[in-house]
Amino acid sequence: MSYVKGLKCRECGKEYPKEALHVCEYCFGPLEVNYDYEKIKKSLTRDIISKRPPNMWRYKELLPIDGEPKVGLDVGFTPLVRAKNLEKVLGVQELYLKNDAVNYPTLSFKDRVVAVAISKAIEFDFKIVACASTGNLANSVAANAAACGMESYVFIPHDLEQTKVMGTLVYGTNVIAIKGNYDEVNRLCSEIAGKYGWAFVNINIRPYYAEGSKAFGYEIAEQLGWKLPKHIVVPMAGGSLITKIWKSFKEFHKLGLVDSLNTKVYGAQATGCSPITTAVKEGTELIKPVKPKTIAKSLAIGNPADGFYSAKVMRESNGWGEDVSDEEIIDAMKLLAETEGIFAETAGGVTLAVAKKLIEQGRIPKDESIVVSITGNGLKTQEALVGRIGAPRTINARLAEFDELVAKEGKVYAVKA
Ligand SMILES: *Cc1c(COP(=O)(O)O)cnc(C)c1O
Ligand SMILES: [Zn+2]
Repeated sequence: MSYVKGLKCRECGKEYPKEALHVCEYCFGPLEVNYDYEKIKKSLTRDIISKRPPNMWRYKELLPIDGEPKVGLDVGFTPLVRAKNLEKVLGVQELYLKNDAVNYPTLSFKDRVVAVAISKAIEFDFKIVACASTGNLANSVAANAAACGMESYVFIPHDLEQTKVMGTLVYGTNVIAIKGNYDEVNRLCSEIAGKYGWAFVNINIRPYYAEGSKAFGYEIAEQLGWKLPKHIVVPMAGGSLITKIWKSFKEFHKLGLVDSLNTKVYGAQATGCSPITTAVKEGTELIKPVKPKTIAKSLAIGNPADGFYSAKVMRESNGWGEDVSDEEIIDAMKLLAETEGIFAETAGGVTLAVAKKLIEQGRIPKDESIVVSITGNGLKTQEALVGRIGAPRTINARLAEFDELVAKEGKVYAVKA
């Protein structure tokens, strides 16, 4: 049974059938999935959800597929970690990390959107899936396509981290590196999608794909005991995740699954690619495209598709936007690892550094609940830390040499960078 009525234009409200469409033919506004919330309200309760297996499909009534999922059955329900050590360092009382660095199967939140997109592509009878990616989406499309036996094409900027390239090639997908930045890759892919008729998960089936991110928000609410946090900090690339987390909170409230909606949503970017936070800080609705230059490559989208809507979420929720330097990103990656034992990618460094900054600015009060969104794994962006975290001491396998090391310093530390 499906609870999806069809698609609806976010701007003019025109309704469309459930098809592989993404822009309104009248006003060129983006299309969004339109649910029958009355029907969902009658059939979905906290109790029903709680009894289902721990993955994102426990909220399937609020995800846009008609049948059973075709791939990614184990995606989601990642840990919400109470960060006691980090609380002490930041001087706050209630801090959580939603940790999609351990999402299944490719260690980023992109497995959520891809699970929905590929399931939908199969329902639409596409034979080939594809994407334009800043790295993590490439990993996820390649892995999930392999897992369900579909052919896939992945388009990436030529200068991505090695691990992200290797973590795509290994699945036997067709990888095409483009001599250009993500925005140029994306433009080319729009042309290819039109000409070749493939299911580009984040282009022609984007309305369905984007809905997968909502599970990140539903899980936070359920894991907090059917409550929403007072503050949430979210990294932004195209700006889709932040809008869908906000949507997930509003839906849970509308369905009575949480009692109150009083969350401020904060967007985080790297200063070297901050078109959305710049617009928020300047108080303008206009998102001015930029040429990205940052180590946070997964967030390096200079012309964000959902920039306008993500800025709106920050305004509507009384949140804010902030950005941080590459230096601050690295410091925050180290801080997270050293305090909580979580190795997040550069995007995680962006989010934590922004959270820290907002707390220091007094924008996020110290005595209210805060969730920091960790969306990707540090093992995939190791280049960012080369020369920044020291090196092991190397000695021969002789006790005398170890004794000497200890005697010399009283204690053995790693060699500092
Ligand atoms: C893609 C990505 C994001 C941002 O996603 P958008 O929905 O495009 O804003 C955040 N973190 C990581 C690790 C990503 O790969
Ligand atoms: Zn329209």
